[in-house]
Amino acid sequence: MDFTNALNTKIRDVKPSGIRRFFDIVEEIEDVVSLGIGEPDFQTPENIRRAGIKALEEGHTKYTSNLGLTVLRNEIANYYKRNFNVDYKGKNEILITVGGSEALDLCFRVLLEPGDEVLVCEPSYVCYSPLTCVSDGVYVPIVTKEEDKFRLTPEALRKVITPKSKLLVLTYPNNPTGGIMEREDLEAIAEVIRDTNIIVVSDEIYGEFTYGGKKHVSMAEIPGMKERTVIVSGFSKAYAMTGWRLGYALGPEVLIAAMTKMHQHAIMSAPTVAQYAAIEALRNGAPDVDKMRRAYDNRRRLIVDGFNSMGLSTFEPEGAFYCFPCIKSTGLSSDEFCQKLLKEKNVAVIPGTAFGNCGEGYVRVSYCYSTEHIKTALKRIDEFVEDLKIEGKKCAS
Ligand code: PMP
Repeated sequence: MDFTNALNTKIRDVKPSGIRRFFDIVEEIEDVVSLGIGEPDFQTPENIRRAGIKALEEGHTKYTSNLGLTVLRNEIANYYKRNFNVDYKGKNEILITVGGSEALDLCFRVLLEPGDEVLVCEPSYVCYSPLTCVSDGVYVPIVTKEEDKFRLTPEALRKVITPKSKLLVLTYPNNPTGGIMEREDLEAIAEVIRDTNIIVVSDEIYGEFTYGGKKHVSMAEIPGMKERTVIVSGFSKAYAMTGWRLGYALGPEVLIAAMTKMHQHAIMSAPTVAQYAAIEALRNGAPDVDKMRRAYDNRRRLIVDGFNSMGLSTFEPEGAFYCFPCIKSTGLSSDEFCQKLLKEKNVAVIPGTAFGNCGEGYVRVSYCYSTEHIKTALKRIDEFVEDLKIEGKKCAS
């Protein structure tokens, strides 16, 4: 059987994630000091793990309702009321999914018709382009720039809007740049789309991690936007729960009902034990989130200072747990920089081009690592940059 020809052509043509591609190379090398992975290095807080264990001991081993446990949906509604003063009904405006990833997948499948345009700020997290492609949508990148702190500007958005524009994906705090959107930035975007039919997919999975006294603002808080926004978020990042696979979507009832229909056929219900653990996370998880945020903040400063003192200018990230140093001064492309750094110093960072063409000249560095680990990596990168300068001088003479 020739399965290559049997595959759906759209799926066959989806490119594997640039992050994965790089990690396939990393896996072949021993003793790599990686700053590549975007996954919290913290263990899920103990009270949350215990809630999961308790759920198992009490025999909660069956499916839940398709939407997810009512108690959990109500806790999510409370969280949004408490933090953003927006009202979502646990009953029919919230769907519990297998990670934010499933919520994104459902959202694209349920909303896109062939030819619909999906506007995505680049550099961008890697899943939006393949999700657009499998729904026959048209992926439209909008370049965000370092001089704008990697925020989406109304001017850049206006330039790409056509009558076919259907979705605007906003990922703030941003993976890979660490950029955020403040209230006035979101208001300006809302102004541009107010008279269009554009729906906002607001991926707010890093919403708990903002720094420098800046608090995350949800698109749903902006007047008139809740009605046309789907919020996607989850427990992976905020509570260090990547392996529990739990996320959710919040949105208008009709949309949540359509997403639930597909979720019902493909998934049934999100993992039950994880749902019980997530209730505990929302009720009593805040002190641990604060601790993790403080730790990320310290690492963020260490890493930004480290790169800047090497002469690799680095935008100061205001959210998530990544920074995006500019490596143009080395004269290498992003790919060359990462491959050479890996080969010569055994340090892994991700080429900016894994997040779109405009990531050329940048690399993504994660600070989901201990300060000791970060210091070791920075020392090696510093040596690498010094070696490059010596090589450069030799070539010039
Ligand atoms: N959105 C963004 C921007 C992400 O970085 C990730 C994970 N890397 C996800 C969504 C999906 O996370 P999960 O499925 O674990 O909730």
